[in-house]
Amino acid sequence: PVPQVAIVGRPNVGKSSLFNWLARRRLAIVDNFEGVTRDRMTTLIESEDCYFELTDTGGMGVEDADDLTADVRRQIELAINSADVILLVVDVQTGLMPLDEMVAERLRGVEKPVILVANKADQPHQEIHAEEFHALGRGRLISVSTTQNRNRDELLELIRDRL
Ligand code: GDP
Ligand code: MG
Repeated sequence: PVPQVAIVGRPNVGKSSLFNWLARRRLAIVDNFEGVTRDRMTTLIESEDCYFELTDTGGMGVEDADDLTADVRRQIELAINSADVILLVVDVQTGLMPLDEMVAERLRGVEKPVILVANKADQPHQEIHAEEFHALGRGRLISVSTTQNRNRDELLELIRDRL
C-alpha cells in the first residue's frame, strides 16, 4: 500500500495551495473564503523514486461557515485514522491563532510523525516569525511559500524521511 500523507490546519492557511504546489497541478480549489464545501482531494505524488498519496482534508462537508471547528475536527479524525505522516499547516503572516492551538492540541496524543509547515514565508525575513510556532510543541518546523515557490524540495525530503 502507498503511504498516506494528510494536510491539516485551520481555514485559509494555504492547505489547498500546498496540495496543488506539491502535486504541481491545480487540483484543489484555492479560495479566499473560509469554510466552502469541497470534496476530499487525493493525489499520488512521486519524489525521488518514493511514492505517497497526499490528501487535502480541509473544507470537507462544511455547510456552516461559522462551524469551522467542526471542519478542523473532521480533518484530524481523518488524519488520525488514515495518515502515516501529518502536515500541520500554519500561516507565518497571521502568526499563531487559537485554532492552530486547537489543532495541535488534538494531535497531542497521536503517535504519528507531524511536520509543521509554516506557509506564506514569501520572503526569507518572514521565516523568523515561524519560530513562534515551536510553541505548538509538535513536529519538525519548515518554512515554505507556495506562491513564491520556497522550500518545496526541502519539504519533500522531510516527508520522504518519515514515510
Ligand atoms: P486553505 O483554506 O487552507 O485550503 O487555504 P487556500 O489554499 O485556499 O489559500 C488561502 C489563501 O492563502 C489564498 O488566497 C491563497 O492564494 C493564499 N496563499 C496560499 N499560499 C500562500 C503563500 O505561500 N503566500 C501568500 N502570500 N499567500 C498564500
Ligand atoms: Mg482548502
